Amino acid sequence: MATMEEENTVFDVEAANVLTKELRDVFASGKTRSYEWRISQLKSIVKMCDEHEEDIVDALRQDLSKPQLESIVYELTMVKNSCTLAIKELKHWMMPEKAKTSLTTFPSSAEIVSEPLGAVLIISAWNYPFLLSMDPLIGAIAAGNAMVLKPSEVAPATSSLLAKLLPEYLDCSSIKVVEGAVSETSALLEQKWDKIFYTGNGRVGRIVMAAAAKHLTPVVLELGGKSPVVVDSGIDIQIATRRIIAGKWGCNNGQACISPDYIITTKDCAEKLVDSLKKELEAFYGKNPLESKDLSRIVNSNHFSRLTKLLDEDKVSGKIVYGGERDEANLRIAPTILLSVPQNSLIMKEEIFGPLLPILTVSKIEDSFDIIKSGTKPLAAYLFTNNKKLKEQFLMSVSAGGVVINDTTLHLAVHSVPFGGVGESGMGSYHGKFSFDAFTHKKAVVYRSFVGDAYVRYPPYTLGKLRL
Ligand code: NAD
Repeated sequence: MATMEEENTVFDVEAANVLTKELRDVFASGKTRSYEWRISQLKSIVKMCDEHEEDIVDALRQDLSKPQLESIVYELTMVKNSCTLAIKELKHWMMPEKAKTSLTTFPSSAEIVSEPLGAVLIISAWNYPFLLSMDPLIGAIAAGNAMVLKPSEVAPATSSLLAKLLPEYLDCSSIKVVEGAVSETSALLEQKWDKIFYTGNGRVGRIVMAAAAKHLTPVVLELGGKSPVVVDSGIDIQIATRRIIAGKWGCNNGQACISPDYIITTKDCAEKLVDSLKKELEAFYGKNPLESKDLSRIVNSNHFSRLTKLLDEDKVSGKIVYGGERDEANLRIAPTILLSVPQNSLIMKEEIFGPLLPILTVSKIEDSFDIIKSGTKPLAAYLFTNNKKLKEQFLMSVSAGGVVINDTTLHLAVHSVPFGGVGESGMGSYHGKFSFDAFTHKKAVVYRSFVGDAYVRYPPYTLGKLRL
């Protein structure tokens, strides 16, 4: 199901071969390297977002019932902001960076030259299908590469909209969209790329990395994990609750890589926190959240079954303190809170990626660190506290892709910090200048003249030369 120029063409290894050759040729022509080409493509993306806002919002509604405001804020505006920043900073980013030299090379000068990598492959995921396709694409364009975008087949309306719009707005000789699922992605992965940027789960991340290894291709893997929220006592519980809700259910109904996955709090705090969550959830989504227009649906029936299985697991089912309602026909699951969940339950074994929020209780808040560290390194970790010492301990002992103190998910919107995982939550990062860097080779260049040759470099190697 390749959507390139010809419809109904099978996109196999041979087609992928032809495509990469085309991209290599266009890259070799130098077209994508110029500042003008990069800027014109970036400006066209802003234009596309402005002229097709409704279509994009509509595609996201079809794929996920994503509320309009969420689509505008988290997908469209973020893409436009990334573009605007790249347009503003590109000249500066592209400029060679002066570097210091040493006595050994005297006289000399040095610089770091940002060089485009070549032909790059971007494979994106379904949960923010517009943002997660466009944001890395912006980095690849800003860095001056030729590229293929492979959107997620799990969000088909957005995938087909991207396949339609990108060739209308962007230079289709250097920026291609290939739609499809496993077989199309596998055909692309057979090819030699200069970088592969993959967003999705760790199982496929391993497939991508193994394919890349055959060609020694570097990868960025934007993966997931179980992002914890530690809630200490002595805080403004209402504000904390609202910020947890915004990061969990307000982000695609929990189907976001940096959504709070579980909470750890003390036994003393748990009751207050649950009461506050119940009150605020009802205020935000009403008495029947299954009918709320402000919550996305579950993406498909596979994910619906996966989530309901987690909810129905014996050890967990008795602990639902809020929610639990579901509507299979419409793929909706209400915001659900589970209290005193055992650490060995199924729901604690995998990333939830949905509207279920387990709360684990500990005797003292510092015990939360060991629970977090007993799992793989998360993509994000959150701490609500007023205690300076606890903040320091948290930062010292918890390794995560990103950390936010006293809020959730907001590091995503700070373009001056890198966004990416560590350990099993991924490798490499992007956003802002980091997106440009992700698709750039930093070439070391040293300049010498014919003045001042160091004879110590040349034989005969007599120690006397060192004393000169
Ligand atoms: P998905 O099902 O859309 O898959 C991601 C991509 O992998 C798709 O383009 C798909 O076609 C491709 N793919 C699937 N199976 C493949 C195979 N066998 N071989 C080659 N390609 C294959 O998305 P998903 O994996 O369900 O996404 C959810 C996961 O992604 C979660 O773990 C989430 O935390 C993570 N995620 C991470 C980020 C981030 O920025 N770090 C963002 C979003 C999602």
